[in-house]
Amino acid sequence: MTLEDRWLSLKEQIARATERARRQAEQVRLVAVSKTHEPEKIQQLLNAGQIVFGESRVQEARAKMELVSGRAEWHFIGNLQKNKVKHLMPGFSLLHSLDSVELGSQLSRISEEQGWHLPVLLQVNVGRESSKHGFFSDTIGVEAQPLLEMPRLEVRGLMCLPPFREKPQEARRDFARVRELRDELERAWGCALPELSMGMSHDFEQAIAEGSTFVRVGKALFGERSGKTWRPLPDEMG
Ligand SMILES: *Cc1c(COP(=O)(O)O)cnc(C)c1O
Repeated sequence: MTLEDRWLSLKEQIARATERARRQAEQVRLVAVSKTHEPEKIQQLLNAGQIVFGESRVQEARAKMELVSGRAEWHFIGNLQKNKVKHLMPGFSLLHSLDSVELGSQLSRISEEQGWHLPVLLQVNVGRESSKHGFFSDTIGVEAQPLLEMPRLEVRGLMCLPPFREKPQEARRDFARVRELRDELERAWGCALPELSMGMSHDFEQAIAEGSTFVRVGKALFGERSGKTWRPLPDEMG
């Protein structure tokens, strides 16, 4: 199968899962996770009609932005290091992985200095795993509240990376828990949190059943990531 064929079949699977959940097609958007992959592949998908691309390294993504042409939307989905914060904007239109108030205030301050406005999702560590980032479900209500007051950040919802489960079915309760947490936070904070970034290659159908609005799919689209990460040639660094 070509990349375009895989994209078409993935879109079809997403559409079917959305229909089964009795949700509207436009409520679920595909984030094509292009981290480590060549800009040529991004260009192919962009030409086919894919809009949103997910990257997890600022420099790698910035180099790719220079090399592809068209109306791509770039989302940052990885762990954002504090020394990379000032390079995030402009370019990224959504940060899926805001995981601390400290990072949030840094982003807000830089956004203010440079005249931006940044939509963000709060990452929830739903399995309380030490290997993963994110707020804990039982403390996010109090801990993350200061983020709502930061004038340059717009908190749009939650994101999760649940523990690895053998069977995708088992991930479904993690997704349900995050959806319920979103509902609780909307009541507690008195604001709308419309976005839920949940589901990857092996479990996006379960995530859609539980209300996901962004599925982040890498492997099922681009194939396995080899150990080799795409890097710009020196003359492409600009
Ligand atoms: C890499 C990555 C994905 C994509 O995972 P696949 O299993 O390749 O679909 C999704 N979300 C985040 C945060 C990632 O880092």
